[in-house]
Amino acid sequence: MQIDLRSDTVTRPTPGMLEAIIKAETGDDVYKEDPTVNELERRMTELFGMDEALFFPSGSMANQAAIKLHTNPGDQLICSELAHVYHYEGGGTAFNSGVTCKLLRGERGLITAQQVEEAINPPDFYHSPKSSLVCLENTTNKGGGACYELSAISEIREMCDRNGLGLHLDGARLMNAVVAKGQKPSDFGGLADTISVCFSKGLGTPLGTVLVGKKEIMKNAIRIRKILGGGMRQVGYMAAAAIYALDYHVERLAEDHRRAKEIASVLSECSYVGSVGNTETNIVIFSLAPSVSEEKFKADLEEAGIRISDLGPGRLRIVTHLDYTEEMHERVLGFLRNYA
Ligand SMILES: *Cc1c(COP(=O)(O)O)cnc(C)c1O
Repeated sequence: MQIDLRSDTVTRPTPGMLEAIIKAETGDDVYKEDPTVNELERRMTELFGMDEALFFPSGSMANQAAIKLHTNPGDQLICSELAHVYHYEGGGTAFNSGVTCKLLRGERGLITAQQVEEAINPPDFYHSPKSSLVCLENTTNKGGGACYELSAISEIREMCDRNGLGLHLDGARLMNAVVAKGQKPSDFGGLADTISVCFSKGLGTPLGTVLVGKKEIMKNAIRIRKILGGGMRQVGYMAAAAIYALDYHVERLAEDHRRAKEIASVLSECSYVGSVGNTETNIVIFSLAPSVSEEKFKADLEEAGIRISDLGPGRLRIVTHLDYTEEMHERVLGFLRNYA
């Protein structure tokens, strides 16, 4: 049995999802004539209480389009030092938008209104880049699946309004936060200007991210998506998978969270483990005790058919997901308990 815990992106469509894909009605979405894509976009505007939605092939492209929509070349965006838009989008902020990032150090990738406000360059001081956008991530990826309190995002919203900044939420795993914290998607729709939501992570589709946003910011979104090469034709097949995921794969995220917490709890009792990050959703970040070799640990895991990711020295990552079954979970817990 191969157990892949590197990421929640490794899942395959379930039989129910495959059936929804096969049965999808499609058309040419570049002409906006794909009824299933149009339906997904309608559902997402409704769910988030936002004006517009647009289907993208990937989360990176949706984030990059949002950054482009909010900024001009030479501007600066403000984000956590662990942000996906900074680390894992190939330098796209510079490549696509000519924008630099001001990085803030926060608890598990979460940043505060006060920190952001202190990071804003004075608007009249033309020597510094113009601060124009704040990017938040919920849940945080490199921060270990941490979730924002709504009150913290409200404070950031209020601060953005006072300072004329846009607010983009990278919600690749926003549904994990919604389920873990008992929140509603519309809570976030009322706070951010744009939100990207991935279907290819915990929700288990082969691809797809929807960018939802306010009308005035989204009006150029379809043009930017075309420029980035993200106009897709009969992509209703993938929108059907996303609609299926909204119907059947949201509530079950609670199971991924339970398993991640059980893994974190076992790890925290093992003498070969150094530290285990607070685990709120489906991501466990941990380190080994100084005397234990990471290389050997990972090799021993591989030998047992278990794969995890390495985020750099002292940061190992386990991510639970739709294709990680209870049987696999028992195996993993057993391996971790007995490893020495
Ligand atoms: C996965 C992820 C994305 C999107 O990445 P893709 O590889 O383009 O799917 C964006 N933000 C965060 C926080 C992510 O974890």
